Amino acid sequence: MNRKEKLHNKLNSVYFDLLANIGTYRYEQFLSLMATEIKTLLHAPYTAFYLYDNWSKTYSLVTDSIAEEKLLHKNVKLETDSYSETDFLQGSPEGMETCLIPLSLKHESHGFLIILNDNNKDLHSNGIADLLKKETENVLGVIHQYHINETNDLNNRLLFAFATKVFPSTNRTDILKEIINVLKNRYPEFSYNLLLSQDNEADSSLPIQTIEYSDAVTKRMSTQAFLTGVVQIEDQVNEKQTCIYAPLSGKQAVYGVLKIISPELEVFSEQEIKFIEKFAETAGKAIENATLYQHSEHHVSNLKLINETTQKLNSNLKLSEITKLVRNQILWSSHASQVGIIYYNEESNQKFDILTESTAYFNTKKGHSFVNHLSESINIEALFSGDYRSNESFPYRSVMAIPMSQSGTVHGLIVVMHEESYFFSFETFKLVQSLVQHSTLAFMNTILKDKLEKAVITDYLTKLYSRSYLEEKINQHMETDENGVLILFDIDDFKRINDKYGHHVGDEVLKQIASIMKQHIESEDVPARWGGEELAIYLPATTIQEGFQIAGVISKQVEENTKPTVTLSSGVSSWVNGVLDTVSDLFIRTDKALYEAKGAGKNSVVQR
Ligand code: GH3
Ligand code: MG
Ligand code: MG
Repeated sequence: MNRKEKLHNKLNSVYFDLLANIGTYRYEQFLSLMATEIKTLLHAPYTAFYLYDNWSKTYSLVTDSIAEEKLLHKNVKLETDSYSETDFLQGSPEGMETCLIPLSLKHESHGFLIILNDNNKDLHSNGIADLLKKETENVLGVIHQYHINETNDLNNRLLFAFATKVFPSTNRTDILKEIINVLKNRYPEFSYNLLLSQDNEADSSLPIQTIEYSDAVTKRMSTQAFLTGVVQIEDQVNEKQTCIYAPLSGKQAVYGVLKIISPELEVFSEQEIKFIEKFAETAGKAIENATLYQHSEHHVSNLKLINETTQKLNSNLKLSEITKLVRNQILWSSHASQVGIIYYNEESNQKFDILTESTAYFNTKKGHSFVNHLSESINIEALFSGDYRSNESFPYRSVMAIPMSQSGTVHGLIVVMHEESYFFSFETFKLVQSLVQHSTLAFMNTILKDKLEKAVITDYLTKLYSRSYLEEKINQHMETDENGVLILFDIDDFKRINDKYGHHVGDEVLKQIASIMKQHIESEDVPARWGGEELAIYLPATTIQEGFQIAGVISKQVEENTKPTVTLSSGVSSWVNGVLDTVSDLFIRTDKALYEAKGAGKNSVVQR
């Protein structure tokens, strides 16, 4: 065996021993140990490794102990591709031969092994330099691969544990917290931001920022990552930091960008970038799952609300009950501060009624004129505004106004408001719209039913109550009250009015009298059309004296205010608790009184 072969064997055995303990050393430690072994093998006083550093673009001395000897430069910058020993040596050491062996290393670009020899051995000429180069490159390659595998294992374990934890979660905030947790463990020296497209996380401990679309250089990278879904790396030389922007992308969308900031300019290995990319992707998918789940949950709860409301609406409620129900459901689901329910009523003076169940603002003068303005400006289209400005003093910035329409006809309007601008989400708007749609039919049916009921008990010409309604009411009052009065009126010589002016004018006179009657009674009194030109009023809880007086007032008003002038004859009678009586007896007595009034020369009141 020649010297070279012997050396080869020894080198192999030494390197093999080192590799046997591969797990115990860091990369730099390994290089130091190798340098020591080579030194021993060659009986050389100094050996050292240089590794190329991408950032500083210099070769740095790895084997620290030798630096103290001040023989070698700590950092070497090569301006061109060519180099020589003198680039590395500090001065020229006495009686020493220098052997510089370039190492081409896949992972770290490259490096150098430098050997200072004292006995004029030319390591190049006898092939030892080549041997050292080949074997060292081999071993370093193995070590590097080992470290890659180690890191891969660690990263895969981390990813797996992360995925197992976040995939079943339906809570976005929990997922975001876990993202930060894992990163803090993996890269404790880095800091992080979550740039999210919609920031609705309540948790202030999370480093969340809303993603800003911008051309500004500092924001361009995050926007780029968000829009392209590709990891971006940015060296912020001024701040001396490197940022990675990894998109949090799911299958359907990108949900944000994970920003990782290293506290110094740093070259991230391909492996590390791959890991961050995978990690962000896993996070994005988990966020997508949770978002979709929360959406569907929301959707289900909206459907439940509508279903529940529709069921209640179908259960034959009164108008006021429907109004209350719809108002409450809207308040509850939108967190609005005002809800107004407006019904377009042809018969009403302002063409609309604000239902009294509306919230306070709508029952004020200002609320009234606001509704007036809205009803003129809104037709079939809904209004959804987050920055509504009607006039200076109008306090509500968020306004939704949704028409209650049915087969193309708008029957009314539901107005929902809040002081804060952009308070209602589009989803809330859709929900309220849906609630309005589902309740419009019930509203209209009930209003129609109320109208019909009123029509049945109302005389079409005078709008006074019908005779049957009057009788029913008196019956009810007789059961509960202490007393009450019935007045019957008959127009004097009405035939003559008809004959002289025509039936139509006679009708108008009847209407005039009905209107005078209504003006002089209380809301609980019951004015009615008893027969053709005979009218009646029932006054609950009234004495006969009071009744007599009211009959007198009405008669006087009729005489003074009808055109053509007519007069009335009136009969008044009453009932009191404790005296046996019936509705029919009350009528007979009153009619008798009326007959007496006629007999006494008309235009008079008689009580019995
Ligand atoms: P008096 O009561 O003073 O004895 O004389 P009168 O002329 O009013 O006589 P009576 O009460 O008997 O006649 C009722 C008349 O009222 C008969 C009819 O022409 C008229 N009349 C009844 N209903 C209506 C109605 O709805 N419209 C009009 N225009 N006339 C009616
Ligand atoms: Mg008559
Ligand atoms: Mg008459």
